[in-house]
Amino acid sequence: MIKAQISELKTLLSSPKNIVIVPHRNPDGDAMGSTLGLYHYLKLYNHNATVIAPNDYPDFLKWLPGDDTVLKFETQQDACMPLIAKADLIFTLDFNAFHRAGHQMAVALETASATKVMIDHHQQPDDYAKYMYSDVLMSSTCEMVYNFIDMLGDTQKIDATMATCLYVGIMTDTGSFRFPATTTKTHQIIGSLIEKGANHSEIHNNIYDSNSYSRLQLLGRAMQNLKVIPELRTAYTTLSQAELDEYNFKKGDTEGFVNYGLSLNGIIFAAIFIENKNENIIKISLRSKGTFSVNEFSRAHFHGGGHTNAAGGRSETDLESTINKFISILPQYKNELSQTQNGL
Ligand code: 5GP
Ligand code: MN
Repeated sequence: MIKAQISELKTLLSSPKNIVIVPHRNPDGDAMGSTLGLYHYLKLYNHNATVIAPNDYPDFLKWLPGDDTVLKFETQQDACMPLIAKADLIFTLDFNAFHRAGHQMAVALETASATKVMIDHHQQPDDYAKYMYSDVLMSSTCEMVYNFIDMLGDTQKIDATMATCLYVGIMTDTGSFRFPATTTKTHQIIGSLIEKGANHSEIHNNIYDSNSYSRLQLLGRAMQNLKVIPELRTAYTTLSQAELDEYNFKKGDTEGFVNYGLSLNGIIFAAIFIENKNENIIKISLRSKGTFSVNEFSRAHFHGGGHTNAAGGRSETDLESTINKFISILPQYKNELSQTQNGL
């Protein structure tokens, strides 16, 4: 974001405004951490700010400060529509195309007269925002919100509440600081957030050590279903609706399961296919190591996208034919998948 845009925004934000802050559908730690982090910042300036999530999110994010103020578009449309309609500014965080907010909310965002601000680190941004801070090299949108507040000259205003929210998204989107997008700057920001009062140990505990017994059993089932194609350095697994039901599936329970495939020695491409009978789709999560782009793979074959090493997608056929399609496509990528690079 260029200096002129920052100073325009600073002027805009110098008097109280009606502001709506939106994360993507099925919000994750970065989406909720960044929207709530920004929410607490805007509240310091007495803005009338509201976070509107397109739909609900996992319980392991429900302890975040400000969670009780979040509206959910899917179930609270009557409360959300007037806020979107009368907003002066709409911040879209951790996504860069309206459809990522879900169909109905996308229509509401498109028709809103508000000035749009995008803060996001996904590939191929759409062109709807007057103020656009898009950087695909960033570890997380939370790191960008920190930078945004810094560019506005307000780093010293970041308190323990904001620091906690921002820490969550940096931690979850970097896989606890191990993915390649984690830089010295990321660690410096993390240091600064801890100084401002983020309790790293408590946050880690709240996010990662809040498993239910049934979730661990569901993980066990996903691991039993794991298949490996060594010659293509690929591992994939599945969970059917019946398996999800058997283990009392709750939103967020399958988060992170796909990463286990990548922990296998020699594997650089991992996928999980999760049946959703309610929406009549197969939800797909893709992860890779190195230069193999799951963003491109998902865009080309599974109506999705994301980052080079982490992307989502979906299929509208059944689980078995989705897997068959996946297996039949893979050999096209044999060269990319079998290349060794940078120790991989
Ligand atoms: P997940 O597998 O956890 O759902 O998604 C991995 C990453 O890809 C996240 O950063 C998520 O925001 C992004 N993502 C997931 N689904 C889609 C999609 O359909 N389109 C795009 N552009 N990004 C997605
Ligand atoms: Mn993110």
